[in-house]
Amino acid sequence: MALKTPEEYKASLSSMRPNVYKFGELIKDVTTHQSTRYTVEGHARIFQAQNEDEHREIYTTTSHLTGEPISRYLSIFRSPEDMIANSKMKRLTFQLTGTCTGGRCAGWTAMNALFASTWDIDDAEGTEYHQRFLEWLKDAQARDITMAGALTDPKGDRTLAPHQQADPDMNLHIVERHDDGGVTVRGAKVMICGVAAANELVVMPGSAYGPDDADWCVAFAIPRDAEGITIIEARHPSDDREAGCSCDDDFDLPVKGGGITQAYILFDDVRVPAERVFMRGEWKYTRNSIMYFIGPYRAAIGACVAGQGDVMRGAAALMARANGLDEKVFTEKLNQMAINNETTFGMGIASAVMGKQHPSGAWLCDPLLSNVNKIHVARLPYETKVLAQDIAGGVAETGCMPSYVDFTDEGYGELLQKYMGAAVDGETRVRIARLVEWLTIGAGVPGCMHGGGSPDGAKMFIRMFSDLNGDMERAKDLAGIDKDVPKPEKKKRN
Ligand SMILES: Cc1cc2nc3c(=O)[nH]c(=O)nc-3n(C[C@H](O)[C@H](O)[C@H](O)COP(=O)(O)OP(=O)(O)OC[C@H]3O[C@@H](n4cnc5c(N)ncnc54)[C@H](O)[C@@H]3O)c2cc1C
Repeated sequence: MALKTPEEYKASLSSMRPNVYKFGELIKDVTTHQSTRYTVEGHARIFQAQNEDEHREIYTTTSHLTGEPISRYLSIFRSPEDMIANSKMKRLTFQLTGTCTGGRCAGWTAMNALFASTWDIDDAEGTEYHQRFLEWLKDAQARDITMAGALTDPKGDRTLAPHQQADPDMNLHIVERHDDGGVTVRGAKVMICGVAAANELVVMPGSAYGPDDADWCVAFAIPRDAEGITIIEARHPSDDREAGCSCDDDFDLPVKGGGITQAYILFDDVRVPAERVFMRGEWKYTRNSIMYFIGPYRAAIGACVAGQGDVMRGAAALMARANGLDEKVFTEKLNQMAINNETTFGMGIASAVMGKQHPSGAWLCDPLLSNVNKIHVARLPYETKVLAQDIAGGVAETGCMPSYVDFTDEGYGELLQKYMGAAVDGETRVRIARLVEWLTIGAGVPGCMHGGGSPDGAKMFIRMFSDLNGDMERAKDLAGIDKDVPKPEKKKRN
């Protein structure tokens, strides 16, 4: 069954074994529970979009494996055009949902990284991971599943390799290799987006590892509700709003189609069958597999935050009007917001266009440009948020607005509505201000700094891929210098 409807998607989640907890409670049905239903709704909007004439072209594509129509989130990037479509879809998805739908994009990118790295392992080692991966992927496409991507380990002491940690479980590792090619794994993956909204998890190493870390080099796909997996949803700044939300019309939680969630995934001796194992100790290939992840992820995240910026810009301009001001008063600030949005979007597109083909057929984004984009993504959206708050005023900055319950109270509600009003009625003004608050200090904030890895990590790659020696040689030529300009010897202090 390809191309599910939102209802079919939600039914697929409802039928899973309950294994998601929050505040000590086992969530029986993630599609209806207050803590998880908003993230499910955000992801369901994608299923709606793929069935809409207006959006079908961007949300769907043709499987290069079966020739069938599939969700783009289950496709392999095989050309610059595929990556450009990825960026466009991510931007549009934030515009449609007003939130992060990380239960799809991280898993999609991890799946693409495994497409190329399983090919590499087989090519060098004579294994059969790639074919195995393709069989799993064909099935995933036919079932139109949603996959969270789990790379980040708890890590423990950041200066120590996995095998040096006092507790080996600080990074997910193999505890048993089965004769048939399967594995049993133990450990955790943390800060994983949209897990409650996912049918499966795509798991891969979060870093490059050496020979002593072979047991930590494991990649696989597994149903989110597999035996031995427990999910703990993290506490979230909007929790009290979710709990207080009285009906779908109230404005305490401004984005009903969304709600970012992040989770701890605990793997308690989880058995992964051979047909779902895509790396089992091949440490030499972890460096490239992580590179295959960060290339497209750091390119396309620029589009996601651009979509976030588009919504902020629109909401800020609306707030100006709601306050009785022509948005022209803020032309320069609104323009700067557009510049920020287009910078991260455009950098991602450039990284796609400047990429190259991997022998497997995967399209690899340009690593220098995608890592440069990560630096912009960790900076420009914050500037955009400051501008949105600047334009929108104190209510949006602080979120100092009455709850919907108070706003509609029979006694004092009418007065609150009067005093919240300006050039528009009080409810309209509160709805706009809540959206700005949500995007600037609520769910819109995370994801820019560390999502897809830390900016300092990206700077390391920028040093690696930018050709300083070449730049120095060219500068020497232009300056007419034909002798060596040696690197200074390390000077010893007395
Ligand atoms: C919104 C959001 C969504 C996310 N979603 C996902 C997801 O879906 N799937 C997933 O797998 N992960 C996800 N993550 C996790 C993300 O990948 C990590 O946050 C990121 O890789 C950084 O790791 P960390 O948070 O453990 O930071 P740390 O590793 O603790 O880094 C903190 C700081 O210390 C620096 N540092 C770390 N180690 C060293 C060292 N040895 N030497 C010098 N400096 C060091 C880093 O550069 C950084 O500045 C998400 C994160 C966010 C914020």
